[in-house]
Amino acid sequence: MSGTGNMMHRPTDTRSASMSRMGAAGRTSAVASSFVVADAGQCIGCKACELACFAVHSQANGIGASVGTVSVPVVPKVYVVRTGDTYVPVQCRHCENAPCAHACPVQAIRQEDGVVMIDEDRCIGCTSCVLACPFGAIEVSPVYRAGHLVTQSGLTHRANRVALPRTAASKCDLCAETENGQPACVDACPNHVLRLAKGISDSPPEPRREVFFPRL
Ligand code: SF4
Ligand code: SF4
Repeated sequence: MSGTGNMMHRPTDTRSASMSRMGAAGRTSAVASSFVVADAGQCIGCKACELACFAVHSQANGIGASVGTVSVPVVPKVYVVRTGDTYVPVQCRHCENAPCAHACPVQAIRQEDGVVMIDEDRCIGCTSCVLACPFGAIEVSPVYRAGHLVTQSGLTHRANRVALPRTAASKCDLCAETENGQPACVDACPNHVLRLAKGISDSPPEPRREVFFPRL
């Protein structure tokens, strides 16, 4: 799995400030999450889900999404993995109490209404989240904006002093920033392999009851 990340909106200063004050426990919680699940036995490995994912997330990148107009590497947020004769799409499970968020040293990962999001602008590309994710759902790859590679200020190739690309983590965001909110991969799959599993919140815990013991 390799390639580019996608655009995430820069948080407002207020949100950034509050995020920096929160620890990992504050950024994730036991909120019931929704996530895309796959029936691996039915996947034919056509990668329609990968292409649909890339097209949706490339709109903010200012590039065309039709054949012949794409000027950046095609990197989706869902990855079709082959094992023998079996294919399975792999993507983020939007874990409750997400390990990737706990591993991030700069609080670039947060949970919003059960969706685990990565703030690309805040990410330093250290890959700690990649190591922490038990599903292999995160990719750290070069960042493109408006179809152009973003370079990392102050980071140059040792031999020729050419600026090196900026890298950032990227993963499924459940198409949170699209208009209808339905993951594009689910709609695109010709074999109906993918579906959105919706999390159901537990009912709130009963209030604690005080118990008094009589003095003997
Ligand atoms: S990236 Fe991995 S660890 Fe993080 S929420 Fe998704 S599945 Fe969980
Ligand atoms: S790669 Fe980015 S998101 Fe992942 S742990 Fe490092 S800084 Fe955080």
